Amino acid sequence: MKTGIIGLLLFSILGISQGQEAPGKVIHDIYKTALRNGKAYHWLDYLANEIGGRLAGSPQAAMAVDWSKQVLDTLGLDSVWLQPVIVPHWIRGQKEYAKIISPEYFGEREVNICALGLSIGTGENGITAPVVEVSDFKELQELGPAGIKGKIVFFNTPMNPEYIQTFHAYGSSVKYRWAGASEAAKYGAVGMILRSLSLAHDQYPHTGVMHYSEDSTIQKIPAAAISTLDADVLSSALKEDPGLLFHYKMNCEQLPDVLSYNVIGEIRGTEFPDKIIVVGGHLDAWDNGDGAHDDGAGCMQSIEVLSLFKTLNIQPRHTIRCVLFMNEENGARGGKEYAKVAKENDEYHLAAIESDAGGFTPRGFSVQDTMPVVEQVQAWGKWFQPYDLHRIEKGHGGVDISFLEEIGTTLIGLRPDSQRYFDYHHSPADTFDKVNLRELELGAAAMASMVYLIDVYGILK
Ligand SMILES: [Zn+2]
Repeated sequence: MKTGIIGLLLFSILGISQGQEAPGKVIHDIYKTALRNGKAYHWLDYLANEIGGRLAGSPQAAMAVDWSKQVLDTLGLDSVWLQPVIVPHWIRGQKEYAKIISPEYFGEREVNICALGLSIGTGENGITAPVVEVSDFKELQELGPAGIKGKIVFFNTPMNPEYIQTFHAYGSSVKYRWAGASEAAKYGAVGMILRSLSLAHDQYPHTGVMHYSEDSTIQKIPAAAISTLDADVLSSALKEDPGLLFHYKMNCEQLPDVLSYNVIGEIRGTEFPDKIIVVGGHLDAWDNGDGAHDDGAGCMQSIEVLSLFKTLNIQPRHTIRCVLFMNEENGARGGKEYAKVAKENDEYHLAAIESDAGGFTPRGFSVQDTMPVVEQVQAWGKWFQPYDLHRIEKGHGGVDISFLEEIGTTLIGLRPDSQRYFDYHHSPADTFDKVNLRELELGAAAMASMVYLIDVYGILK
């Protein structure tokens, strides 16, 4: 009798009911099925090559919504639906044009730029002005209006190559992209050019969202990124000819908001249907590439998680929900709307896992919660050892799922190898040919395994 009670207790503490298979066997089956019969790569081929770049509000984003719902519909899930979300609609317009004008040094030289997301355009005639190069906000402040008024500010700050995890380098440089235009405009700048946030030396300019200060006394000025190679050209030209002029023309603009959707599918839990585990990525992608890594990969992996559960006939105790969020890149309104609806409906979200760091070889997970929860997830590390996934750390979960933090959800980010991510990120180089089938599927298998472990053991808090 006594041992029976202890046994029962032990099972309930471990969260394993009698008859359930040991995690090692199920995880092995998940990896085997993903590597042999996974569909994420095939789906990504369609999303990237047939639909392509799909910024929120664009016709391509609408196509991606319809198509990914159709894919979810083929999996035999318990429900698939679209969640309405109103999104901003910014368009790039014609391809941007830029040149350095230096009659004494080398005449005119065309350079590669692209508008930063949500920037205003330059008007028909473009902007032509002298350039002042700075490496940080402090330098900008020191130059003040006397050094900046009437000029284009050129933020030439290379990403720090010393970080092993490139997201740290991105994290310390992205403030210039986000706030650089308004900071420069405070001192009377007429334009802003940013060295692309990339660790590669090539001709691709990398876009990304920026914002203008809410202070209406600060002029909105057009903001663009220049390729890293052309940033070097501009910088050395300025050393030879500090009086050179820079000309650029962009006709990007903000159109009225548009109705779009988060795409959602779920398998209902057998024991705790009201407790939800989310897996997701963001369906929108910048218009200058095909968004294969950012974040087509994460979306297709998330669909793959549900597909693997269905193929292997794993009936989860909790509800497993795949969410393809809209508008992460220039507003994150999909993530905000999802959390708002979850809150209104009093939904309990046990955990949310996001894949939004590229479709590269998975190295680990970052867990955004208290240390006891981080340690619980770290203890599952042993199940991932055979699959060469070794790093489970406290850290950021993901932008789209971050809004679930206030309802107490444990947030987890898939952490793939990051060495090449920023070579492609937000640029014309983010294309399907950069994604490897096995690496993509290993990520999907890692996510499905993590979902399975959460489903079996729960989150202790
Ligand atoms: Zn992304």
